Amino acid sequence: MAAVLAIHAHPDDIETLAAGTLALLASRGHSVTIVTATAGEGGSVETGPEETARIRTREAGAAAALIGARYRCAELPDLGVFNDDQARRRVTELVRWARPDIVIAASPADYHPDHEAASLLARDACFAASVPNYRTGAASPLNAIPHLYFADPIGGRDREGRRLKPDFGVDITGWMDVKRRMLAAHESQVAWVARQHGVPDYLGAMETWGRRRGRDFGVELAEGFRQYRHHPYPNGPALQEIVGEALLTLADWPG
Ligand SMILES: [Zn+2]
Repeated sequence: MAAVLAIHAHPDDIETLAAGTLALLASRGHSVTIVTATAGEGGSVETGPEETARIRTREAGAAAALIGARYRCAELPDLGVFNDDQARRRVTELVRWARPDIVIAASPADYHPDHEAASLLARDACFAASVPNYRTGAASPLNAIPHLYFADPIGGRDREGRRLKPDFGVDITGWMDVKRRMLAAHESQVAWVARQHGVPDYLGAMETWGRRRGRDFGVELAEGFRQYRHHPYPNGPALQEIVGEALLTLADWPG
């Protein structure tokens, strides 16, 4: 059984982009941990940052619990995630605590600066977690760098609007119900996403994206992933193997 760690910037990002895959893996007995870089305390016009952080981390914990996953927050500031020394040590400590074989991180290119910085932090923390002299806290260093993957960016596009091609997909057709319930656990975000992002139907937008990605792979609903393969990260197909028959490959890519 594998230990899978999903790291993203804000509560609800992982639910939007990878919860179907996480639900599938949890159902097969793999252990799943979700970490957010921030508590998403900027995401409200009704409550101040401290109260919003409490609400949103509680919602993230409830979403994770739906698939038996653990949840932790690195408590970096919302809209203040940077790939600096303090933040890297904090994320590295959480990677060491989670002890993953596989890490699913935010896309390096995405619409939000916290997403992009959280991606760099996760990437570099995977490396740093295995360096014994890199001191972070109570958790002991990892014996090896975990396999690293990037989820799709929001809407599948970079800041220039280019569609980013996934290396492979996961068929989540049987897992949309769980994914919807996980995202719905982020109750405080429904009003915020409508106001700030002009998206009145938060859950519907997530499902529409899943159908769009599904069409790329010729199935009803899918999530896409890319693998980080640079030296010295392991480049074997760890995630591809454990999703089994749900693994999808692209027949062609119109761009
Ligand atoms: Zn986000």
